[in-house]
Amino acid sequence: MKQQVHGRPLVYLDNAATSQKPQQVVNAIMEAYSTWNSNIHRGVHHLSQVATAHHEAARKAVAEFIGAKSSDEIVFTKGTTDSLNALAFSYGEAHVHEDDEIIVSGVEHHSNIVPWQMLCARKKAVLKHVPLRADLTFDIETFEAMLSERTKIVSVAHVSNVLGTILPVEQIIRIAHEKHIPVCIDGAQSVPHMKVDVQALDCDFLVFSGHKMYGPTGIGVLYGKKEWLEQLPPHEGGGEMIEHVRWEGTTYNTLPYKFEAGTPNFVGSYALHKAMDYMTAIGWETIEAYERELTEYCEQQLVGMGCTVYAAGQPKAGVISFNVGTIHPFDIGTLLDQQGVAVRTGHHCAEPLIDYLGVPGTVRVSFGLYNDKADVDAFIAALKKAQMMLS
Ligand code: PMP
Repeated sequence: MKQQVHGRPLVYLDNAATSQKPQQVVNAIMEAYSTWNSNIHRGVHHLSQVATAHHEAARKAVAEFIGAKSSDEIVFTKGTTDSLNALAFSYGEAHVHEDDEIIVSGVEHHSNIVPWQMLCARKKAVLKHVPLRADLTFDIETFEAMLSERTKIVSVAHVSNVLGTILPVEQIIRIAHEKHIPVCIDGAQSVPHMKVDVQALDCDFLVFSGHKMYGPTGIGVLYGKKEWLEQLPPHEGGGEMIEHVRWEGTTYNTLPYKFEAGTPNFVGSYALHKAMDYMTAIGWETIEAYERELTEYCEQQLVGMGCTVYAAGQPKAGVISFNVGTIHPFDIGTLLDQQGVAVRTGHHCAEPLIDYLGVPGTVRVSFGLYNDKADVDAFIAALKKAQMMLS
């Protein structure tokens, strides 16, 4: 991705939206289509068996990557949004009825709000959110007080895609479990940046996207504890997800295939496997320490130049949101782009949080493993120029 943008070397700081891909991931896609492309699970022929073996090896690798007990607990989806829609539909069909409540946090991405709203509209249930404290932290006491026998599921982000802050998911899960309420963790912004272990967390569901963790687009994961996935109904019907189809009715496949209707993205899962290998080879300690240092280095400079950094001083997972006085974030983003710096501006698909902040949007920088301090320096120099031009 070394290239010039508007005549300047590209500084890519929009990793929370999607990451760039290591060469081995790009090569894996090329290799799959050039050498072993074939539909999986169906053929007795050699290529189909090779493709099936790759897809199932990727499933096993995901299970290991997130510490799942079994690869039966790993459902491949299109991404976080797809996983959340699948869960909201399936769980909602089985367990959510009139006047039941679903609880999310005040920092959620639209994809952890809208599928639940759609479910609530279908079932006449109620979606509630835990308001943020004034310092933008999660209000654990209010959360606890909001839980009742009507609460059917809690679904919260692990890391805010706007603020970069880390929610106290261990506590959230423990408190919800005391009341026998299952918890879904939106790991779209945590799985790429920190070790997430589903057994240590004891979350019931975890969702994330391949494309934010150096993998390709169109592949993601819905992890669910076996006890849950076994009893939940499929959210889509079609090939692959069935055991037998008769005119009188259909019986469903075993886990995880019950939730994977149609031809799965086996090229995507293969490339995601390579992306996980890339991260594992670097190691979590290195990844976490490196990104922490980079984020702190950047935040200090933003604060130093008088920017409003949201949730300043709080630990962050590779994401910082800020504004420069009352300058519109879009103007900052445009002037940064002209200097080769790619950032995200706007509401970041989290309008309720942006409304809560009381601003039209924020400027967001987010890091990947290929970013370094020179990128931060280039960004800060470009930001100072933009600030001068706009004030
Ligand atoms: N949740 C969070 C916290 C996110 O950051 C994102 C992506 N911005 C999503 C969900 C949706 O992910 P995707 O678009 O890959 O489905």
